[in-house]
Amino acid sequence: MKTISMLLAGLLVLITLGFLLPQQNFENVKIKSTHVAGNVYMLEGRGGNIGVSVGEDGILIVDDQFAPLAEKIRKALSDINKGPLKFILNTHWHGDHTGGNRVFGKEATIIAHTNVRKRLSTEQHISFFNRTTPPAPKVAWPVITFDQSVSIHFNGEEIRAMHYPHGHTDGDAVIYFTRSNVVHMGDNFFAGRFPFVDLDSGGDVEGLRDNIGKIIAELPEDVKIIPGHGPLSTLADLRTFHQMLTETIDIVKARVKAGKDLETIKKEGLPEKYASWGTGFISTDRWIHLIYNSITGKDRHGP
Ligand SMILES: [Zn+2]
Repeated sequence: MKTISMLLAGLLVLITLGFLLPQQNFENVKIKSTHVAGNVYMLEGRGGNIGVSVGEDGILIVDDQFAPLAEKIRKALSDINKGPLKFILNTHWHGDHTGGNRVFGKEATIIAHTNVRKRLSTEQHISFFNRTTPPAPKVAWPVITFDQSVSIHFNGEEIRAMHYPHGHTDGDAVIYFTRSNVVHMGDNFFAGRFPFVDLDSGGDVEGLRDNIGKIIAELPEDVKIIPGHGPLSTLADLRTFHQMLTETIDIVKARVKAGKDLETIKKEGLPEKYASWGTGFISTDRWIHLIYNSITGKDRHGP
């Protein structure tokens, strides 16, 4: 029994690691489509959740998972709306959110933060997983870039992409569908799971915590939230995530201050109530390690 659950856990890790593994079998992946609110839908397959705006102007998507899933994603989009795909917003550069750019970039305009274009067009190395990603083909690069924010006026609402510095990476955008009252958080939000924070790409665990705090303060109580990974969420879920970040960072910081080394801090673990948060691809040990590296400045290479 234990072996089976360990195998299953291993499989889950492999699936969720996604962008870190070049060879994957996508044949059995199904794209699930959910109406969120107003013009906005959410697609789940493998990799980051996709946000979709549909209406009289056509289709805009937020992130596009992996290239081998492009035809399945296209089918799911046409089941919602027959209009043309006009825009792709990328929440950050990771391949489980931008892999489809190389297909959809031929027909739609890709928009993202300046650092997303920088990172997609050059070789990237993530030391935490010892993984190197080659530059993406030019068709996959964003053609419109922004530093602070950009608005797309589309399907009767303002769709605003706002940059928050040094959170999951240094190129994160949060997408606000202002009339539909939906927000796509990108990988600033892993619902109910410890997040990956990409320190090599300018991410920072305390920056992430502070960004989430600012975003929570601005969101209306009844907003619907699409996380980068995990199920459709509410503001209460995002508050729980923020609380987890605050508490676990404080715990690790206090132990570092007390002169404990990483192995000791890992051995002491985190409160039992967070056990289920470590069942995704960032285990409790990995999350402690990421916090440790981020606050001590280890393993941080940045641009
Ligand atoms: Zn990511």
